[in-house]
Amino acid sequence: MRYSQLFIPTVKEVPADAEVLSHQLMLRSGMIRKVASGIYMYLPLGQRCLLKVINIVREEMDRAGALEVLMPSVQPAELWQQTGRDVDYGPTLAHMTDRQDRQNVLSPTAEEVCTHVVAGELKSYKQMPFNLYQISFKFRDEFRPRFGVLRSREFIMKDAYSFDTDEESLEKSYRAMYNAYCRIFQRCGVDYVIVEAESGEMGGSGSHQFTIPCESGEDVIVYTEDSKYAANIEKAPVDPLPRLERQATSDEQPENIHTPNVGTIDAVCEFLKTKPSGMIKTLIFTTGHGTIAVLLRGDHDLNEEKLTQTLSGSKFELADEATIRKVTSAKVGFASPVGLADKVDKIIIDHAVAAMAVGVTGANKTDYHTKNVVPSRDFPLEGDNIIVADIRNAVEGDTYQGKKLLFKRGIEVGQVFKLGRKYSTKLNCKYLDEDGKEQNPLMGCYGIGINRIVASAIELGHDKDGIIWPISIAPFEVLITSVNIDDEQVAKVSEDIYSELKRKGIDVLLDDRDLRAGVKFKDADLIGIPVRITVGKKAVADGNVELKLRARQDKELIPIDSAVEKTVEIVNDLKQKLEAS
Ligand code: ATP
Ligand code: MG
Repeated sequence: MRYSQLFIPTVKEVPADAEVLSHQLMLRSGMIRKVASGIYMYLPLGQRCLLKVINIVREEMDRAGALEVLMPSVQPAELWQQTGRDVDYGPTLAHMTDRQDRQNVLSPTAEEVCTHVVAGELKSYKQMPFNLYQISFKFRDEFRPRFGVLRSREFIMKDAYSFDTDEESLEKSYRAMYNAYCRIFQRCGVDYVIVEAESGEMGGSGSHQFTIPCESGEDVIVYTEDSKYAANIEKAPVDPLPRLERQATSDEQPENIHTPNVGTIDAVCEFLKTKPSGMIKTLIFTTGHGTIAVLLRGDHDLNEEKLTQTLSGSKFELADEATIRKVTSAKVGFASPVGLADKVDKIIIDHAVAAMAVGVTGANKTDYHTKNVVPSRDFPLEGDNIIVADIRNAVEGDTYQGKKLLFKRGIEVGQVFKLGRKYSTKLNCKYLDEDGKEQNPLMGCYGIGINRIVASAIELGHDKDGIIWPISIAPFEVLITSVNIDDEQVAKVSEDIYSELKRKGIDVLLDDRDLRAGVKFKDADLIGIPVRITVGKKAVADGNVELKLRARQDKELIPIDSAVEKTVEIVNDLKQKLEAS
């Protein structure tokens, strides 16, 4: 393709509202433009990258035996009500009422529709196993769309749904997808790690997450120092802390201190000369089964997934002010576990709180905190409605199975789930087994974010001048920069190499614009095409062109005659390195 005929609006300045590098570079290189919050248009360069990723994903899904289908984006809300996920997804699920007043949702994923349609067709065990996939737009009204296309509201996802008769067969389907994902990320040229994950809203029994380690990632990966175990932070378990021996102060009795206008943990710590790790936070939640109190050390964060597990899957939300007043007899921010056991339906205590010798809590009295609160002495750690469990995020210093935990940030690019029978049961999807008995199939689901792969590749591959693409997903493989287009010889050499490379099936872009060389080189660095041929007057006069890789500094002069052959060799070599074994 010719640069002069392409629409590549590059920008010199770093866009003010783009926080992460991939977002900045996608805007600057003219790949995308923002249309609304979390909604982007992909311009020609961006679309070419998406298509390259899509091709790889499609090839690997087909290779793994999955069957491509296309499901609707607008889906009857009723199906989502049947699984209860209209509630689970909350405001992230976008609704659309049609002119007949029918309620629809915009698909954020497609377990419901897929299972519903399969339910209408599935009759016998003989039809299974099979796996249906699609590559399509998904819409999620994200709470905070950000980081460009990494967390957008509309994005392209490859989602697949497998149907099996027994665990062994499901395991096979799951492994096939797991392996296909490894091949996809290898071929896209992005380094990845696989970690154990929680299944979250999906439900189900097992899940792995594919994550690209990088600083700007929103996910936190936790792994043991021997690297034998890795999980995302939502899942990562921690060993209970050793129970601390009572210190001298703990013999002192609880004492209420007047703490007016000190609301935050930090303010209370400063006022009472203690550390957040010496405080006990008491959070009040409402659940479908009543009100619960959750105790955490002041420096720890609640892990919602772990709490959900502890509550056997029950949903919870922070109690409203009236409930908190009723339970604690104080305004928000002064709850204490002391005397709370009779006032709530359940108390969930994190292991780390149970291990504390003594702590500072609220006082169940507005504007008061209590010093010298001793777990077990001043509030119970055992009882019918008391659970001590692991409900917090792992932090620096924690161990799992005795091994130190280490942390790394990353971008989640894909996730695979064993769903079990959750959806097939709720959506009445059945078949007759070998004995003629009705059964619900076992399902798995498998998602990959196409746009996230593109942005992650930029997070991994860039320098101060721009993008450095892996050749497999670059918008073009080769860029020919014709430096002096008005020089007849330069123009001819450029055109010849261009048409010859095209003839050989190379994806080549010819920069034929009538612009200063400096501008063209800057754009070349910014858009990051991996292999670059520069055709300049002086070199051409000597019978040469210049060859350079975007990822390297050194340049090589090669005879015009062998330019095509050499370029094809380099392209093939770069591609070879990304081939999956
Ligand atoms: P996250 O935890 O980042 O919100 P998720 O776990 O909800 O993602 P899944 O339901 O597993 O996402 O969706 C499958 C894939 O779709 C993700 O691995 C990710 O690559 C992609 N994806 C999900 N949400 C977005 C989004 N808002 N923008 C771009 N890609 C997304
Ligand atoms: Mg996920």
